[in-house]
Amino acid sequence: GFNFSSGPAVLPEEVLKEAQAELLEWSNARASVMEVSHRGKAFIAMAEESERDLRALMSIPANYKVLFLQGGATQHFAQIPMNIGFGGSADYIVTGQWGQKAVKEAKPYTNARVAATGEADGFLKLPPRDTWQLDSNAAYVHYTPNETIGGIAIHDIPDVGNVPLVADMSSNILADTLDVSKFGIIYAGAQKNIGPSGLVVMIIRDDLLGRPTAPMANIFKYSAQAADGSMLNTPATFSWYMAGRVFKWVARHGGVAAMGERNRAKAERLYRYIDGSGFYSNPIEKSARSLMNVPFRSPNETLDEKFVKESEAAGLLALKGHRSVGGMRASIYNAMPIEGVEALISFMQDFAAKNG
Ligand code: PLP
Repeated sequence: GFNFSSGPAVLPEEVLKEAQAELLEWSNARASVMEVSHRGKAFIAMAEESERDLRALMSIPANYKVLFLQGGATQHFAQIPMNIGFGGSADYIVTGQWGQKAVKEAKPYTNARVAATGEADGFLKLPPRDTWQLDSNAAYVHYTPNETIGGIAIHDIPDVGNVPLVADMSSNILADTLDVSKFGIIYAGAQKNIGPSGLVVMIIRDDLLGRPTAPMANIFKYSAQAADGSMLNTPATFSWYMAGRVFKWVARHGGVAAMGERNRAKAERLYRYIDGSGFYSNPIEKSARSLMNVPFRSPNETLDEKFVKESEAAGLLALKGHRSVGGMRASIYNAMPIEGVEALISFMQDFAAKNG
């Protein structure tokens, strides 16, 4: 079968098998990777290698630090303003529910302003660029390039002048090529394209580590984590190890450019079928459709329910839409092979023929 979960999402089968093979005895450590010191030679070597691999994959410039943190993306909705928004204001481009949460969580720590929002259009369209009310004195501009729940994406990198651009790439990191130098911070909860949950990967430009912050404990300071190699305390060791494996898997399968080609092919196939089916529909403005999360509906809710039940029984897992949206949602992250999308379309065709 195929798992269309929005997250925690499928990992590449190759990676799971590698982890399985060395679950009890990892490297030369004579213990599981979960059982060794994060300050020991083997783990440090793995950690350094994972960072090198990610830097190579994403062509991360030398003036950026790569951090392997905990707390989920949600904790960093708060921690980002604590670190780089102190005493100022920040602009938020809100294109869905995650962006809404990000601005809400930032408010206790900075003057977080909604500079643009698609809320009036039910987040089915992007707010037009000429309506964005950007403040050139803002501490940063935050946006969510891929909104996991709504399935809407900003495909180009917005030009926000000299203000650092902060992107929540939880559901689209490593999905395509990216010019990292255009960003101040890129961060992602690991549990879609990177690995198991419990880990946040953050790519942060050096100068942002020097900003004044409110008095706060070291554990919240990105500068302290950077100074300590993300080992101020015990990191999420197993998740980090799995992330390292996934980076190698991405590289082995052609890198992010190949991921991008494959992801576009998968998404195009699925949207083309939905649009031409006369049975299913996807409501998102065409130019802003997500490559990762594809919400769709049948003609009515009774059929949606039937679809979810029958697809699950047929081995196509987790197609139920987000509780706030209803309908169905197919998440087709890096690890989803084209065969999974083909199997889904074939099921959709059968279902439409029987119920149309
Ligand atoms: N941001 C986006 C775009 C997401 O898809 C998610 C969902 O998992 C989150 C943030 C929240 O991440 P976490 O559960 O790691 O806090």
